[in-house]
Amino acid sequence: MTDLSGTDLTQPPSPDAQPDAPLLSVRRLVKEYPGASGFWGTGRQNPIRAVADVSFDIHRGETLGLVGESGCGKSTLAKCILGLVDVTSGDVTLDGVNLVGLAEEDMRLQRRKLQVVFQDPSASLHPRMRVAEIVSEPLRLLGMSGAQRMARARELITLVRLNQEHLERFPHQLSGGQRQRVGIARALAVSPRVILLDEPVSALDVSIQAGVLNLLGDLQQTLQLSYLFVAHNLSTVRHVCQRVAVMYLGKIVEVAPRDELFSRPRHPYTHALLSAVPLPDPKRDRARERIVLQGDPPSPANPPNGCYFRTRCWKATEICAKSEPQLVRHGDVSYACHHPLVDEVGD
Ligand code: ADP
Ligand code: MG
Repeated sequence: MTDLSGTDLTQPPSPDAQPDAPLLSVRRLVKEYPGASGFWGTGRQNPIRAVADVSFDIHRGETLGLVGESGCGKSTLAKCILGLVDVTSGDVTLDGVNLVGLAEEDMRLQRRKLQVVFQDPSASLHPRMRVAEIVSEPLRLLGMSGAQRMARARELITLVRLNQEHLERFPHQLSGGQRQRVGIARALAVSPRVILLDEPVSALDVSIQAGVLNLLGDLQQTLQLSYLFVAHNLSTVRHVCQRVAVMYLGKIVEVAPRDELFSRPRHPYTHALLSAVPLPDPKRDRARERIVLQGDPPSPANPPNGCYFRTRCWKATEICAKSEPQLVRHGDVSYACHHPLVDEVGD
């Protein structure tokens, strides 16, 4: 075990090695799961390409939203970044260090800078541990003494706006929102720089989602955190992200600053996702064009040739079947489409 007893664990792990570079860079990331074996155990189907060549950056103090339908590869991407699954190819660089293929011990040190909060707080909190133990466990693994851990647990519980008495409770004695706050406190224990939030409010009642989202926003400000905020709909990311990446069938099809994406989506898929977000003004909401995508996304084991979205796209032409559009940068917006909606979708 790494001896960090002389380190102040309440401080960020170390100053950033490259303060001007992106904090987290993902480059050409691919994750394939082996295909299922055929009927009667004969043969094997194509591998499932859950993440199909994904690149993006997250800057210091930034929240990047990652949005796409269920099954498009968001959680797999998060797991690849965390080193929870082996990547097929590509690089994940955190503050100048490539995490792919890192030895376990080195990865443990890097994981101090990179934490995760999952969708279902109940599944990620040990049912027979008290909250104090749950939130301070990562510090035990780093070699912190019991008294120091308890002091840190008290700080953490206040940071996530729960009370000291919550430290004595077991997960089943908390509400869903309180459990997710405990999950956030646990992620904060080692003073990370980046937190991957995998649908952090999707399992919560709408009435308590806003409280958790506000908490995440405030923590980001006070602790200067960077977030990758994963969600399956655009309305959740609207108030928390500076930039948004849209994912379809393992690929990023558009990345844009939040307001730009919401007012002028370039990719037809982004436009379709946006048209499902209700507008606050009911008159405008009724009047606007709604795009309902037909059918389910194709299987990631058998993606269409050319553009992956073309089988559900109302703009698709011959070229879309022939050549795969690449994610190309146009100013601060990037999109992968042969027929972008630049001039059609106004503010
Ligand atoms: P999302 O988080 O966007 O809903 P996932 O990353 O969970 O998507 O899944 C992406 C694709 O990879 C899906 O087709 C899913 O069935 C497949 N997948 C995920 N985990 C595994 C696994 N362990 N083995 C095989 N296929 C998987
Ligand atoms: Mg998921």
